[in-house]
Amino acid sequence: MVRVAVVDRDLCKPSKCNLECIRFCPLNRRKKIAIELHETRKYVVIHEETCIGCGICIKKCPYNAITIINLPDELEKKTVHRYGKNAFKLYGLPIPVRGKILGIIGKNGSGKTTTLRILAGELKPNLGNYGKEPNWDEVIKFFRGTELQNYFKQLAEGKLKVAHKIQYVELVPRYIKGTVGELLQRADDRGIAKEIAEEMSLTKIWDRKINVISGGELQKLLIAATLSKEADVYLFDEPSSYLDVRERIRAAKIIRNYLKNNKYVIVVEHDLAVLDYLSDLVSVIYGEPGAYGIVSKPYSTRNGINYFLEGFLPAENMRIRSEAIKFHAYSIETSIKTETKERILTWSKLIKELGEFKLMVEPGEAYKGEVVGLLGPNGIGKTTFVRILAGEIKTDEGDISTSIVNRKLEISYKPQYVSPKMFDGTVRKVLMNANSSALNPTSWLYSEVIRKLRLNKLLDQKASDLSGGELQKLAIASCIIRDADIYLLDEPSAYLDVEERLTVAKVLKRIVEEKRVLAFVVEHDVSIQDFISDRIMVFRGEPGIKGIASPPLQLRNAMNMFLKDLGITFRRDPQTGRPRVNKEGSYLDRYQKTIGEYYYIPVGKEEEKEES
Ligand code: ADP
Ligand code: ADP
Ligand code: MG
Ligand code: MG
Repeated sequence: MVRVAVVDRDLCKPSKCNLECIRFCPLNRRKKIAIELHETRKYVVIHEETCIGCGICIKKCPYNAITIINLPDELEKKTVHRYGKNAFKLYGLPIPVRGKILGIIGKNGSGKTTTLRILAGELKPNLGNYGKEPNWDEVIKFFRGTELQNYFKQLAEGKLKVAHKIQYVELVPRYIKGTVGELLQRADDRGIAKEIAEEMSLTKIWDRKINVISGGELQKLLIAATLSKEADVYLFDEPSSYLDVRERIRAAKIIRNYLKNNKYVIVVEHDLAVLDYLSDLVSVIYGEPGAYGIVSKPYSTRNGINYFLEGFLPAENMRIRSEAIKFHAYSIETSIKTETKERILTWSKLIKELGEFKLMVEPGEAYKGEVVGLLGPNGIGKTTFVRILAGEIKTDEGDISTSIVNRKLEISYKPQYVSPKMFDGTVRKVLMNANSSALNPTSWLYSEVIRKLRLNKLLDQKASDLSGGELQKLAIASCIIRDADIYLLDEPSAYLDVEERLTVAKVLKRIVEEKRVLAFVVEHDVSIQDFISDRIMVFRGEPGIKGIASPPLQLRNAMNMFLKDLGITFRRDPQTGRPRVNKEGSYLDRYQKTIGEYYYIPVGKEEEKEES
């Protein structure tokens, strides 16, 4: 066994605790120091050679700052990088293959960005010897006999040119100035920037300064700029963040079309349908987020994603989750609730004008016990509708009535953009205010929401100190644990990994069904929409100008309407029930278009044909 001890330096606060981790360590008591205060006195250090992994310090730490894991010895030989003493450790690397797109899937904090930075040559792997500057000869030797040996040899000799779309696009305007057009022209080694800009609808904003464009526009711009570079290696870290469904699929198509021959392409992605559509191969990164990550062998795309959902990796013989994630395996017809429907909300035709933009919502109603998904492009009025429901803005015409008359209608709302200013005090206090019983470690909400979103690690942090992703999780958790009649979640998936997305979806669905309440969810991830929604409102029109919202429609009708506009078809994976994008022009794609079933085919043999 080898011991991996990780101390989170943001969480460890020696000045605020009694240092029981040090005082109660059985080795320290025998003067074989296993844990002590670092010379800066800002955090503790654990000596892995002495530590026996008894776990006492972990339990004593009031801030959940310590993780100690015992891993099999043979894994040690695979150490590719460690950021430092008691820091995150990466085992293995994804193996890029020329001419193929390799997809990477895994939890947040499992090392996906780290692997891309290593493959980009931005971070030199130290093979675990964080004390000294790594040298390329050792790295090349380490990967002997694999495709990576050749890869690093070329990288070290400067023979591999790399184009890298980084994860946090919102940071880019801080260090790159100028307009969209200027940036694209600077990147345009291949002379294709104009063409890609056209395909990604960036020409409209060609002269706009990049510090004023939206997150989605920035994402598209950076994808276009990366593709325009002449390189041997193209890396995309979470390309679908901030994009709507149409833009995701389009970006995926463009990446495929413009990177055809002989390039190394690696994509980290949380949207399963996009990852599936983009990749030729998939590697899973598993482990303990923040502590260590292990890169799996490359699997075929379908198998890789299915194994990930099933929670078991056969080649590694490794269980990565105790339970499988299942989508509706049944035909959607049967999910239509025919038993007594109890209306909770009814609205007449609604009209709202905001500056240049006009939203029209067709009359509709919603029932107790259902999740209504909102689907549509960016700038079409989804947030506007949610804000009307939340009572933040008033309609110009039409009104909403509720069946709850004897008391105030309780609404719990997670807005699209979460800012630290929304919250006061610590994470614990925010969650306490929402619902104190959710902090009881034996409660269902604690194990299914607080722990699964890893908020238990952050309870004593100030909400204003949290990162974007952590803040999002806090906002989601405090929204869903609150008692309410109506839950409004505007883009909860932003910043979340697949498992967190599915966790939120599962919990929300259960709350809504058990408490017979109602939820509206704005969501761009088709797999999550499929998983969570009973009915869907489709928003169509002209982004920024005019939006028209349909009433809540049955999932299948809504998806058909939405996908027909997009010209893409989906089928279901027979094993996991997850939706998969059909290849354009494939037998199934053509067949489904003729019969008008864009979303899935009523049970039949068709699926197998596509697979073979
Ligand atoms: P992912 O992209 O899968 O979310 P990352 O590769 O960004 O994960 O990070 C993996 C882990 O490594 C995280 O716990 C992160 O805090 C840690 N980490 C990232 N960069 C550094 C660094 N420069 N120093 C120390 N730890 C780091
Ligand atoms: P979505 O959530 O579907 O992306 P929104 O409802 O946020 O769309 O916005 C729809 C359109 O209305 C956008 O073009 C947006 O710029 C515009 N808009 C939103 N709020 C205002 C406002 N307060 N004043 C003027 N225009 C607005
Ligand atoms: Mg990352
Ligand atoms: Mg919105």
